[in-house]
Formats: sequence, structure tokens, C-alpha cells
Amino acid sequence: MDEVKQAIRDIQHFGEEGGVIPVIDVASTSTFLDPEDMEKVFRGELEGRYLYSRHSNPTGVDFGKKLAALEEMEDAVGVASGMAAISCSLLQLVPNGGHIVCSQTIYGGTYALLKNIFPRMGIAVTFVDPNDVRAFERAIRPETKVLYTETVSNPLLGISDLKAIGALAKKRGLKLVVDNTFTPAVVTPSRYGADVVIHSCTKYISGASDLVAGAIISSKDFIHQLVDLNGGMAMLLGPVMDSRISHKLYLRLDHLPLRMTAHSRSAGYLAVKMEEAGVKVIYPGLKSHPQHELMKSMMHPEYGFGGMITVDCGTREKAFRLASRLQEEKFGLYAVSLGFSRTLMSCPAVSTSSEIPAEDQEKMHLSPGLLRLSIGFTGNDKVMSERFFKCYHEVFG
Ligand code: PLP
Repeated sequence: MDEVKQAIRDIQHFGEEGGVIPVIDVASTSTFLDPEDMEKVFRGELEGRYLYSRHSNPTGVDFGKKLAALEEMEDAVGVASGMAAISCSLLQLVPNGGHIVCSQTIYGGTYALLKNIFPRMGIAVTFVDPNDVRAFERAIRPETKVLYTETVSNPLLGISDLKAIGALAKKRGLKLVVDNTFTPAVVTPSRYGADVVIHSCTKYISGASDLVAGAIISSKDFIHQLVDLNGGMAMLLGPVMDSRISHKLYLRLDHLPLRMTAHSRSAGYLAVKMEEAGVKVIYPGLKSHPQHELMKSMMHPEYGFGGMITVDCGTREKAFRLASRLQEEKFGLYAVSLGFSRTLMSCPAVSTSSEIPAEDQEKMHLSPGLLRLSIGFTGNDKVMSERFFKCYHEVFG
């Protein structure tokens, strides 16, 4: 059953004068007809009023409701970037002196934030193997507040056992925060016990590589805490999502499930061809992926296994040569980021994971020759695959 698409569809909002989409409300501040009401909002005695756009604005609220429907959670708040979503949600949950148990195979920026910045705020972090739930359990301390992981890890494409980690969080009274950036629509982490889901909306949720944005999806209560005038990290650290961006993303959520299906179809086609040809490819949709069955048990099959593939070229030099040839042959673009309609390629060891020291990269089996491909859906799968193999055979013989 196509529940994800239906949940998004059922968010219906009429614009002014009956428009089929909401208008963009760009006002930075809202009028109060009665000054007493403004005082009450500041005192926390009056809810649901628009005050100032950094706190909340009508277009952001519309986007939040639709994204919350996608993630089957109560509410969401848009912020300025994926990193803002991660930092605000974790700082809201973890006080000075607190501790986080975090997957060691995560996006390099998240790793750098947790490793370099959080300890300066008195927050300790232990990194563990995400494939070993017992490692999460062993790392829990009395002051632990949060377990943190990515549904599909960047860049290694390991799959977190959200059911097991969610059950552990529940048993130990901790919050599970899941970065679902790689798998919107494909996996719904709230079904497996995620208390907070975050997205870099820069990626699949936008799909057009034309903006930077993030979102935090959770209970009404947690979203309320995030925008609290006196203690809300989204409110007081200030990474508000501009209403023009909320509006774009609101519209793009309608075709997100279709785009995910298209990404998955093209990535699946290519990954099978690569494997048949003996390429060292990792893709969750391949039976050879160590957590293929786990992924199958968590995903909504109609949206496929996602659009991310990695190819281990052995050395950085070979990965660079292959990527350069692929760009020349118009297979894809050598650029960081992902989730674009066209294929994007990068070498994580020296780019989006370069924040992770070489010895830690080695420990997590992040090869210097790894090429990460965010497979787009434009073009013809067969033609794209022929272009890939032309370049591959030139580099590898
Ligand atoms: N989470 C993941 C999995 C990412 O890949 C990224 C960025 O690449 C981020 C979070 C950070 O998102 P943003 O660049 O929107 O701040």
C-alpha cells in the first residue's frame, strides 16, 4: 500500500482566493490587534499566534505539517540547513555534562560537530559500530541522553538496525535521533522507535540542488520546545528557514515519492550491471549487501532501495581518473551533495568525510578509492550504463 504518497496527498491547503497551493507569507513580523495578546505570547500564556518569522511563520508551518505527514510524526520545523537540524535537536536534548552514543559511520560534518564542537560545550560523545547494537548498549553511561544514527550511512551505505536501536533506546529511557537524509519516503524511522528524525532537505527533499535547508521532525511537544522563546535552540540559535524555501519544499514534497522511485530504479539498474561485470559496488538493493535483508524489512518497497551507490576504485588516483572520465562523458557531475535529478559523484575520503581522521577512516573501512555516486534519474538507464562501462574499462582495462 502506497501509504507514504497518500499521507502527503492528504495534506490539503487552499491558498488565498481558493488557489490550489498556499501563498508564500514573507512577512517577518505579524500584527496584533490587541497589545495585551502580544504580552501574553511572550509570557507563554497564548499559543498558536504568529509573532515573528524566526519563531514561526504560516508557510513554514504548512511545510512542517506536510513533512510530518511523510515521516508519520506529529510536527516538524524547517531550519536553515541539515547541520542546523542536527545541532539544534541534539543541543535541545543533551545538557552540559550529557553524553551521546553515536554511529561511527556518519556524514563527515556531523562527525566533526560531535567530535570537535560538542566537547567544548561539555557534551561527550562515544562513536560505535552501527551494525552492532550491543556496542551501543555497552557505550551507554548514566549521563547518556541520546542514541544517534543514520538510516543509511553516508558514505558507506551501511543500514542501521533501527528496530533494535529503537528498542534499546526505549528500554534505557533514551531518545533515538535518526538522520534519514538518504531515504525519505523509502524508510519511516518513526515506525521503529525514532523520537526525532532529521533531514538535510538540501538533498532529496529539494531534489534540485538549488537550496540549502534542513528539518527536524518529532512530537508536537519537542517541536514546541525547539521554538520556545526562552530555551528553544531553533529559536535562539536562529537558523530559521526562509518562507520562500519552505514554500518550494512544500511543493516538492508532492513528487518526492515519484523521484525516489525513479532514483532507485536507475541506481538499481546500474548496480546490477556493475555487479555482473565484477565492479566492487555497494548498493543496499543488491543481495550481496550485508544488510540487504534488514533494509528489505524496514523499507517501503514501492520506493526502492534509494539512489546511492559506492564503487571502490582501490586508490584515490583511480577514483579521480574514473570520476573525471565519467564527467567528460556526461555520465554525471563531480560535485558533493546528493539527491539531485542528475548524477553527482565525489570521493568521500578526501571530501565529505575528510573531517574523519585517516586512522578512523581505516577503522570504518572507508577506502581512499571510494567513489560515491548519487544516481540521478534523467537520461536513459541503458545509455548511462554504457557510458559508465566505457570509462570504467578505460581506467581498469
Ligand atoms: N546529514 C547527511 C547524511 C548529509 O549527507 C549532510 C550533508 O551532506 C548533512 C546531514 C548536512 O546537511 P546540510 O549540508 O544541509 O547542512
